[in-house]
Amino acid sequence: MNRRRCMYCNAEVRAVRKGEHIIPESLGGALSIRNVCSQCNNEFSVIDKELVSKTPLGIVAGQELGASTDGLWDYNAEHDLALEARIVKELDAPVLWPQVVFDDRGPMFWFDLAEGRQVGEERCMREFLELVTRARNTLRGGYKRPRWLWTPVTHPPRRGRFPPRVFTPHSYRQWSNRVHFICRYLKPIDQNRILWSLDNWRPFEGRVKLKECWGSIDPEAQISYRPRYILRALVKIGINSLAHICKQTRVDQQAFPEAIQFVRYDRGDGPSFDDCGFVRNEDVQTLDCPNDAHALRLTHGANWGLDCAFFGGRIGATVSFPGPNHDKWQRAEIVAPIGRRDWQVRTSRVVLPRTMRVEWGDICRIAPSLPVKNVEHRFRLERRPGN
Ligand SMILES: [Zn+2]
Repeated sequence: MNRRRCMYCNAEVRAVRKGEHIIPESLGGALSIRNVCSQCNNEFSVIDKELVSKTPLGIVAGQELGASTDGLWDYNAEHDLALEARIVKELDAPVLWPQVVFDDRGPMFWFDLAEGRQVGEERCMREFLELVTRARNTLRGGYKRPRWLWTPVTHPPRRGRFPPRVFTPHSYRQWSNRVHFICRYLKPIDQNRILWSLDNWRPFEGRVKLKECWGSIDPEAQISYRPRYILRALVKIGINSLAHICKQTRVDQQAFPEAIQFVRYDRGDGPSFDDCGFVRNEDVQTLDCPNDAHALRLTHGANWGLDCAFFGGRIGATVSFPGPNHDKWQRAEIVAPIGRRDWQVRTSRVVLPRTMRVEWGDICRIAPSLPVKNVEHRFRLERRPGN
């Protein structure tokens, strides 16, 4: 029997449960390949997560697929606080999730200003407190699935203090007895502090200073991610796509050693930040990506090049990596419908020059359809392992 080997590490591939998604599942990628072992698959979740939940692409994905975005915070200058926020399609700034922040002075409610005004601030707070208390009680045992999730944060935003907080990723309209709460904190010791503060908090006894607990009027957000993780995740999309569509070219660690070492371990120089990364949106438009799909273009010249248009071209990226080509085409145009497996692949021998201009900092140029003005785009420095 012909045993299947992992294309990334050459280990024998045993039972494959989900396969490795060519385009990450949280971007709506549905097509997967089977010759990746579960260990590699698990290890890749770190770079995938960085790409799909911490970058401008993550914000677009959050809007398109209705998921919440990690690493998106609202900044409140008056209190110098980073707050949990989301970006909604219709508005021109991030919107706060309803939350309690356990600041040194005691717990504080934060709501989105508009949402709170609609409902009435006191009612909003009372209902929130009732729900958060219920969710807290699901930690007390007897509940198989507590509606309270502990989420330690290893990389807080650079701007603003980051005291522990508990929030619900649901707007007021969606509140019910079943909503869950996420508690983000920096140190394990915070867990007890939060529970203690919550259990001993009596916000409606005595004088209630509602205005102090209000939403942010001029929100800012910041995005922070590690650029090399992004390039690794992009190279992986390229290698996965090749494994799916190449007939003659073997795609494994013998044939693509540098690219695969880069994806797995961040080894080698990797692609250059000058011509790989997120790109100017007008260049993405040249890929003619249909609205409900992603479009990929693979080209082979001196290296492999991968140009991507995600979510109908709302945002795009480009990356290159070394590797052979024994197939009879130099260019493949792929349309990958979101949430579906029926990829359309057209190959041709004509190579077009790659023309995408890379843009790392300016979110308005990368994703002009995003209704954000105050977003601060930051890169996290990362320590590279020895080469
Ligand atoms: Zn493997």
